[in-house]
Amino acid sequence: MSDFTMTTDADGVALLTWDTQGKSMNVMNQQGFADLDRLIDEALADDAVKGIVITSGKDGSFAGGMDLNIIAQMRDESEDPAAGIFEGIQEIHRILRKIERAGMDDKNKGGKPIAAALPGTALGIGLELPLSCHRIFAADNPKAKIGLPEIMVGIFPGAGGTTRISRKLGAMAASPILLQGKLQDPKAAMKAGIIDEVVPADELVAKAKEWVLSGPAIVKPWDEKGWKMPGGAPYHPAGFMTFVGASAMVNGNTQGVYPAAKALLSAVYEGALVPFDTALKIEARWFTHVLLNPSSSAMIRSLFINKEKLEKGANRPDVADQKVAKVGVIGAGMMGAGIALVSALAGIKVVLIDSEQSAADKGKSYTADYMDKGISRKKATPEKKDQVLGLIDATTDYAALEGCDLIVEAVFEDMGVKADVTRKVQEVVGPDCIFATNTSTLPITELAEAAQDAEKFIGIHFFSPVDKMNLVEIIKGKQTGDVAVAKALDFVRQIRKTPIVVNDARFFYANRCIIPYINEGIRMVKEGVEPALIENAAKLVGMPLGPLQLVDETSIDLGVKIAKATKAAMGEDYPDEEVDEILFSMADKGRLGRKSKAGFYAYDEKGKRTGLWEELATEYPVSDEQPDLTTVQHRLLFAQVLEAVRALEDGVLTDIREGDVGAILGWGFAPWSGGPFSWLDIIGAPYAAEQCDTLTERFGDRFACPDLLRELASSNGTFYGRFGTGEDSKAAA
Ligand code: NAD
Repeated sequence: MSDFTMTTDADGVALLTWDTQGKSMNVMNQQGFADLDRLIDEALADDAVKGIVITSGKDGSFAGGMDLNIIAQMRDESEDPAAGIFEGIQEIHRILRKIERAGMDDKNKGGKPIAAALPGTALGIGLELPLSCHRIFAADNPKAKIGLPEIMVGIFPGAGGTTRISRKLGAMAASPILLQGKLQDPKAAMKAGIIDEVVPADELVAKAKEWVLSGPAIVKPWDEKGWKMPGGAPYHPAGFMTFVGASAMVNGNTQGVYPAAKALLSAVYEGALVPFDTALKIEARWFTHVLLNPSSSAMIRSLFINKEKLEKGANRPDVADQKVAKVGVIGAGMMGAGIALVSALAGIKVVLIDSEQSAADKGKSYTADYMDKGISRKKATPEKKDQVLGLIDATTDYAALEGCDLIVEAVFEDMGVKADVTRKVQEVVGPDCIFATNTSTLPITELAEAAQDAEKFIGIHFFSPVDKMNLVEIIKGKQTGDVAVAKALDFVRQIRKTPIVVNDARFFYANRCIIPYINEGIRMVKEGVEPALIENAAKLVGMPLGPLQLVDETSIDLGVKIAKATKAAMGEDYPDEEVDEILFSMADKGRLGRKSKAGFYAYDEKGKRTGLWEELATEYPVSDEQPDLTTVQHRLLFAQVLEAVRALEDGVLTDIREGDVGAILGWGFAPWSGGPFSWLDIIGAPYAAEQCDTLTERFGDRFACPDLLRELASSNGTFYGRFGTGEDSKAAA
């Protein structure tokens, strides 16, 4: 079966329909390119064909992008990976350039008009292909997303998209599309000049055909003599300013750690100075450069390939479909309200229970507010709001839980309260309904003791705010059974989030790794390291928030509470007394973080950060001698990644893919690295082990090299080499 098919009508318009087999949205793969290439040749050679329309056979979308496995194939199938990738990309350029030239000769004579007709979403290659056509029509479909999101996974548009969009719009106007991966609906994309015409959906192909038959001019501006880049090329005064500004912006936004953004800018800059075909070659060269950078491969692996595998149930037990029809959410506070919202948005019936009706109603109003915001931004309609709210029954009456097939409990973080609720709920729903707790700190196995059947009890740990955070940590207690795991995974899939499945241990996975990061930051303040150095070191290595800002955001009193509970559980072995000294004293002063408008940072009366709290230096004097940047960065990163390795050794993590994806989505671990395990592979186990030894000697045993890392160092192995498929990770446990 072919991914593209062609039919030619009586008027001589060849309609090329893209319909990737077995996918709900088109994805470009090698077969797709081969089919496209062949059919374009046929259509151009056929005298009966006057012009071509390229469209999609999928309802409401044109294409979701490239199957990034193509790139891995190009790399792996050649003896020289760089040459393999470069030639593979040049081949894609050749096909798209053929469409663009459409049979014209050197003098731009002849040729056949080719239009793209997009029924909806067109992303990545799904827009690069239309950009090579002579006119882009899109159906008036406000849900459609049009853009080039490649930068989000650590690459940039490398199938001519970078060169074409910057030449079509000018470097300045192209910058949000290329550098931020901004996606727009068709009308906005037309306003931005990306596409040419928005037409009613039922007239899409007809309008495109009409244009093809109208005898239009088809030479691209950049193929005309005397063409000048809109907004100015780099040596033009206006262009000069654009590129200077863009360069500063890229470095400001990426702190220099994302190779793709820099390479993209170089491709645009250098490409703007030369003829179009040379610019394509430059784009291919920079694209190859980025693809060979370990950061890009790691980002693609974690943020594209493995994230998708986890979402599709890579670690789902083999049991029947467990899709949720009716969920009971107990506790309508911050988390419960968010869980009710995302469930109702997925079309699931929700019973939202709290001890007071006013609290239950307040929880439901979170959804109303969310939908109102959507309406004001034209992302939702009043009908949709009614429909979503209609799915949520806010009540105090446990009898309403009758018929629920999943319960998610989000009441106070208290063993006794949770046990009571578990018993009360199960009196109504019975032992077969899967019961999940959203606890962030209490052991699942212990909480399961209150349940009638511990096999049906599980942790589903959301992150706050629930509607924004895409990771969900599923935690298996000692007795949790396969049906409960499958139920949790199917639920997470319904609400379109990314799951990781971990075993029960203190703080599970994400919080276990983030707490040492925060603590290392605070410990450095105690030692006299300049707080600004700590915060900037974190950001310069790609962490979204420095440790001091992070603890301000999550609240210092929560830190105190966690520290007290951990100390009570660990007794003499508790390692963080020094950290607690600062943390507790901040809490005593009422400096609880952002919520009290005072913490490690100072805030204005509106709660906006105004800078680090100046008196911190009076309380904890800054030393005359400051550590170098790398030492601070190593302390902050190793604090997290060693905990991730220990979680793997302890069997809390059973799949390093989950460890990496979970770290980036859960706490923003330096995305450029692909996650903690990818980072260790990038720096190499021998170097990592050596750094552990140095850090241990200078700062203490918390940096002791885990056995697994030591062993990989001595065999010069990598985490992905050993555990990359997920299957063998289990062997580490
Ligand atoms: P919250 O205080 O905002 O909400 C708790 C709600 O539970 C309140 O509305 C309360 O009235 C209700 N409640 C208490 N006892 C009840 C009972 N017996 N029956 C019915 N309702 C009852 O707390 P939250 O921040 O939403 O946290 C809830 C749970 O989620 C906790 O276990 C917490 O550890 C966990 N959690 C919180 C976060 C976070 O960032 N806040 C993140 C992940 C997990």
